[in-house]
Amino acid sequence: MKDHYDLIVIGAGHAGIEASSAASRMGLETLLITLKRDTIGLMSCNPAIGGVGKGQLVKEIDALGGIMAKAADACAIGYRMLNMSKGPAVRSSRAQIDRIRYNNYMVNLIGSSERLDILEREVSQILIKEKKTIGIKTIKGEKIYAKVVLIAAGTFLNGLIHIGLKSNIGGRFNEPASLDLSENLKELGFKTMRFKTGTCARLLKSTINFSKLDKQLLDSEPIAFSFLGKPSSLKQLPCFITYTNEKTHEIIKKGLKFSPLYTGKIRARGVRYCPSIEDKVVKFPHHARHQIFLEPEGLDVDEFYPNGVSTSLPQDLQIEMLHSIKGLEDVKIVRPGYGIEYEVVDPTELFPTLETKSIKNLYLVGQINGTTGYEEAAALGLIGGINASLKAKGKDGFVLDRSTSYIGVLIDDLVTKGTQEPYRMFTSRVEYRLSLREDNADLRLAKFGFDLGLVEKCNYEAMLEKRKIIEAEVERLKKTTIRPTESVNIFLQQFKSSPLKRQITLAELLKRPQINYEQLKDLDDNCKLSGEIAQSLTSEFKYEPFIRRQKEEVKRFKNLEKIKIPDKLDFSSIAGLSREVKEKLSQLKPLTLGAASRISGITPASISILMVWLKKIGKGKGNETRVG
Ligand code: FAD
Repeated sequence: MKDHYDLIVIGAGHAGIEASSAASRMGLETLLITLKRDTIGLMSCNPAIGGVGKGQLVKEIDALGGIMAKAADACAIGYRMLNMSKGPAVRSSRAQIDRIRYNNYMVNLIGSSERLDILEREVSQILIKEKKTIGIKTIKGEKIYAKVVLIAAGTFLNGLIHIGLKSNIGGRFNEPASLDLSENLKELGFKTMRFKTGTCARLLKSTINFSKLDKQLLDSEPIAFSFLGKPSSLKQLPCFITYTNEKTHEIIKKGLKFSPLYTGKIRARGVRYCPSIEDKVVKFPHHARHQIFLEPEGLDVDEFYPNGVSTSLPQDLQIEMLHSIKGLEDVKIVRPGYGIEYEVVDPTELFPTLETKSIKNLYLVGQINGTTGYEEAAALGLIGGINASLKAKGKDGFVLDRSTSYIGVLIDDLVTKGTQEPYRMFTSRVEYRLSLREDNADLRLAKFGFDLGLVEKCNYEAMLEKRKIIEAEVERLKKTTIRPTESVNIFLQQFKSSPLKRQITLAELLKRPQINYEQLKDLDDNCKLSGEIAQSLTSEFKYEPFIRRQKEEVKRFKNLEKIKIPDKLDFSSIAGLSREVKEKLSQLKPLTLGAASRISGITPASISILMVWLKKIGKGKGNETRVG
């Protein structure tokens, strides 16, 4: 360990590892500090990567040159493409992951990276000089200096773990909390909030009666997370499905007086879309049962994760509740479920580069920004790591806007609107989701990753080749015609698609809702594409009018986004703006007129006034941020 680095990352969870890996690959001497070296990349909760809206994040991380997708493919033990019955805009990859293999993969990858040192220590303080960070101080009093510092402390800041009415200080099961750093952030003036999340008990596999349970089928032809990678070669294991019942609900209701959630002991805001089983039973009394997915934790572990019964009830009630469920009548638990309260920093205190507005060269990434989930944390870590590295090199920042990516939406939502509860990514948050699909994340983003030095030349060239192949096939399908012969109409009939009355192009045929590219192969031997490229092509044709309309909307969006607001603009001097609008703009310091328009309470009228004002003072173009 040296006493000077270019960049220091505090925390080796999903955010910290993306940040430190990106920084070291961008040429910076990097130090990654973690409370426990062997927990690098540990999955604190469910053994899975991806999910609705999250799969898109993983694909985008991969396209930009991050590491999560490759790690997931190396350790996946069951792939499923979610929402297959719905349109391609909302389809998302998810894979069951071998938790120990993933942890080991990350320990080895990070441990063997060039220009990346690892230190097992607790950071207690951020060193500041003239409103700029200059390094960190550890709990042992060591001072280590750096040009930029990133904090990726996850659920550890002032963490408090609850099992029933017993609570103990901790950042994760059997791990200490980070108290001094939490205090230090408050002393530095950061506005913190207290959030809550929870996890379920882990079950001993050999005590589950699988013969009573339904199996969940896996994809027979899985698609890898990583664009140029292959799906995992590990043995694939199914999940199983069971349900709570009235007896389970009675046990839970009886136990509410011992639940920290319902006795008022936990006051923090929890994850709305991932409620505890206590919350589900109380808030949805009309539901006779709740679904539980029993997910394997790995190939060599005798543990299952019962997804859907996250709880902070006392351990004896957890067991009683589980025993009331079909297939779990004799189950033994390996570890109890628990709830955890922790502190986050209000993300509106950040620029879209994830640098803090009040302290230069200090970046916050991951769950500390108010999110929940490995994928959200990793995406923030990657973008924070990229920006911190650019800052250390004296270069402009890198910001993806809402029209380019899910990552752009995630960050814009956080820094312009803030969040009052753990923020989870969903496809519904993304206004241009028809264009921002999983299958085209590389076409959208690999150029940025390549320019930043994170995507290798050969991989970038592979993406260019993919684009060429798609464009050539689009042209060919537009030119190739098909005649209304008897055999063609018999073919169409089997997909309940109306018969042809005249000659049409294959492109026109592909626009029909019942027809996809795979089926065209029976009509035309030259349709040779497959997998994700074929899916991409099908979507572009089918949704062509909608995508065209979205492109128009994006143009309008970009026009507002192009109008930059100088960072030193004195909003209080702008006549015509209400006091509320002036206060909000001064506090949130939006970088563009587009960002200003998305702040709640900022009216279209105030945007017009601001636009006129910016024109008058001759501003509105150029600031330090490059918008991707
Ligand atoms: P973490 O993975 O928490 O990593 C934090 C890192 O910071 C660790 O390496 C730690 O050692 C280090 N650290 C902290 N303080 C210091 C310090 N002072 N000095 C040095 N190192 C420090 N997500 C979901 O999507 N769904 C869920 O249902 C869900 N449930 C969860 C339940 C529980 C009980 C927990 C703990 C988490 C849950 N999560 C869930 C959240 C998920 O685990 C996180 O979103 C994700 O791990 C956050 O990644 P991160 O990198 O920000 O932080």
